[in-house]
Amino acid sequence: MGYLGLQSHSFGCCSSPASRWGKVSHMKELLAKVPAGLLINGEWVDSITGETYDVKNPATGEVIATMQSAGAEDAIKALDAACAVQKEWAQTPARERSEILRRAFELVTERAEEFATLMTLEMGKPLAEAHGEVKYGAEYLRWFGEEAARMNGRFGHAPDAGFPMLTRRKPVGPCLLITPWNFPLAMATRKVAPAVAAGCTMVLKSARLTPLTAQYFAQTMLDAGLPSGVLNVVSGKSASAISNPIMEDRRLRKISFTGSTPVGQKLLAKASENVLRTSMELGGNAPFIVFEDADLDAAVKGAMGAKMRNIGEACTAANRFLVHSSVIDEFSAKFAAAIVELKVGNGLDDGVTCGPMVEQDAVDHIAELVDDAVARGGRILVGGKRVEGAGYFYEPTVIVDAPIESRVFREEIFGPVAPIFPFDTEAEAVELANDTEYGLASYVFTQDPDRMYRMSDGLEFGLMGFNSGVISNAAAPFGGVKHSGMGREGAAEGIEEYTSLQYIGVKNPY
Ligand code: NAD
Repeated sequence: MGYLGLQSHSFGCCSSPASRWGKVSHMKELLAKVPAGLLINGEWVDSITGETYDVKNPATGEVIATMQSAGAEDAIKALDAACAVQKEWAQTPARERSEILRRAFELVTERAEEFATLMTLEMGKPLAEAHGEVKYGAEYLRWFGEEAARMNGRFGHAPDAGFPMLTRRKPVGPCLLITPWNFPLAMATRKVAPAVAAGCTMVLKSARLTPLTAQYFAQTMLDAGLPSGVLNVVSGKSASAISNPIMEDRRLRKISFTGSTPVGQKLLAKASENVLRTSMELGGNAPFIVFEDADLDAAVKGAMGAKMRNIGEACTAANRFLVHSSVIDEFSAKFAAAIVELKVGNGLDDGVTCGPMVEQDAVDHIAELVDDAVARGGRILVGGKRVEGAGYFYEPTVIVDAPIESRVFREEIFGPVAPIFPFDTEAEAVELANDTEYGLASYVFTQDPDRMYRMSDGLEFGLMGFNSGVISNAAAPFGGVKHSGMGREGAAEGIEEYTSLQYIGVKNPY
């Protein structure tokens, strides 16, 4: 395969364009709107620990904010506030909760520019993608605002005795919500909105690397009319210093976690001590399967979305490209040609389509995975290097000829690196795809509709994109199997995670 001439990306992060620097005063005004404290019982307060932590812009390495860092005592105060209003909140009419969520949807939409800029500043994604996340994240507020009014039970008769049977859905009670850094708004709305809709109170712990968006979102929920104590926010330097005391407290009823599988496993073990309801949205290792009859241009377009959205830092990101041997050369050439067109740089700059990694450790991890693939015989078609200078950048990369023993096949890459592997038969594609402990997203490109059902039978994944590289939506039940977790977020199923079912057997009237 001849791919010479595809080696260099355009790089915009050191160019200091006027467009970015012209926005500095606007950035300062925006950052001044973001509360730095902990949200406890409707008030933004300082931490009892007296400690703070810094938030950096990954495109420059500069500190952009200093936040209050919560400890165990703050965490329990936040849980106290949630517990104090749980009963009253559960009794509010569903319509009232629904309308708060609707107002929150409208406010987040009005503040789209602010939310998008905050996410680009603290996490690095290109501004246009951050706008996409605002739309996606806000949709959970609208969707669960609508679902709040439909939290109904069932009515039936016991078939043998004929007595009436009722079921009710009740709020599960105070929840701990823990979110990751990669989608700072959407991962918060995906949990907060169904919890509010169901009538639960909560403590939210956002990620240390990206607390700003969650803080501004919490303020927006207050502005939308959410009563004090329903949503409390405590983030800080040490995640377990916050989560352990809350999870050990008998008043907590549920934990909903989105993050890596190893942390999810620790939290599951911890949750067992208090027999907590759990929802776990964990890591992924998505196969992206291209059959010989696929429309290759559509597959490349889908691959760009599935791999490069969010700089590859998505749990749904295509991790392993499995391509039929008869089209692998053509697909690889077209994909590499599309990748080389990406403009790497500061996500706030015009035209940038690939931002920085979230921190230096992430760049080191990706570099290790690529070096491992190359050492085992992999060939770099494009990219394959760190970008020197300020910020945490790695070139978008395509690798072919690496064996499946390579770490890029086994591990979640979480960056803009696309390894491509061949297969010859449908059965082999399914076997390779399932050869992972993960089971979140999968993608299949083919023009044979019968294959859709056969592949959905064979693939052990909670999500499947058929001729589509981006499938997340508030109306869809999102979640994984195997080590990718349990429970679903979004859709009608998303609210059930925050309810418990009560059955009432009524005295036989006959
Ligand atoms: P992470 O597991 O390191 O952190 C996630 C959250 O857990 C953060 O708030 C962190 O502070 C907290 N945390 C870390 N250690 C903890 C501990 N011992 N106790 C309590 N909380 C702890 O994950 P990350 O790096 O923030 O996010 C990336 C991971 O998240 C990837 O594996 C990705 O696949 C996964 N993810 C999954 C989904 C999904 O829906 N399945 C969505 C987004 C991200």
